[in-house]
Amino acid sequence: MDRADADTTTLADATAVFERVTHPTRVAVLRALADAHADAPTDPWLAYTDLKDAVDVRDNGNFNYHLDALDDLVVKADAGYRLSRVGMELLTTAASGVLDTDWTWGPRDAPGTCPFCDADLQFHYTDGKLQLTCGTPEHAMALSAPPSLLQTTPESDLVDNVAFLGYQWSESTRQGVCADCHGHLTGELEHGGLQPDHHHYRADCQRCGYQHGVPLGLHLLTHPTVTHFHHDHDIDARTTPWWTLDWTTPGTESVIETDPLRLQVDVELDDERLTLTIDDDGTIASTTRTTTTD
Ligand SMILES: [Zn+2]
Ligand SMILES: [Zn+2]
Repeated sequence: MDRADADTTTLADATAVFERVTHPTRVAVLRALADAHADAPTDPWLAYTDLKDAVDVRDNGNFNYHLDALDDLVVKADAGYRLSRVGMELLTTAASGVLDTDWTWGPRDAPGTCPFCDADLQFHYTDGKLQLTCGTPEHAMALSAPPSLLQTTPESDLVDNVAFLGYQWSESTRQGVCADCHGHLTGELEHGGLQPDHHHYRADCQRCGYQHGVPLGLHLLTHPTVTHFHHDHDIDARTTPWWTLDWTTPGTESVIETDPLRLQVDVELDDERLTLTIDDDGTIASTTRTTTTD
């Protein structure tokens, strides 16, 4: 079976799962079983009558019809019903809020300034994604925080956690693992795209079809040497909003070879400089650490 066949089969399977939850009663059953799981994780079973009461459906035939339709999203045993692993997966995805395309949040003040026009920045969740924006649409950058993070994180941790999810996304992409579906990624440096005249790391997922475009600064930040360099200067690279670090400004990279492409980026913190050369496949070919005082 080649890759195209494998993908078609996976999507057909996914369609079958989605068809099982096309009625509010079925979603209510999953919700009730999820609540039972949250209340007692070691004994998540609900007896048939308790489940029926929780969903509040009077008609037995109607209730049974929808319960059967859920198929392997639920597990049936003598003790009653509980969510299966797949049923749980479906509910956690729904709980993250990413499926709710109408949900909006913000704008809220964000740290740093726009690297393109120096204006103040804001976070704004709209059209199914969190944007970091100065108000000029072409300058906006998409961040990877879902509604669940924005709704439940205390204000004091919000910026750290948004930055952390971006770091995780970049780290996963660098490793060749799709942060969305965990399929394998192939990536390389790319010039232009959303921001002309700058480079970014682009990685394509063969599995879900998503194209990850990681800003060059964020791509480099997750390299162990670069993370370590920041740690030595009392900066936690995982939770610092990378766009506030001067060296990540798009366009600070210099092209030192064109065929194949090789870039150089200088990371300067306090009185130290970390010079990075980056190959066209996005790997860091060399690192040099020097002091800038002499
Ligand atoms: Zn701007
Ligand atoms: Zn994917």
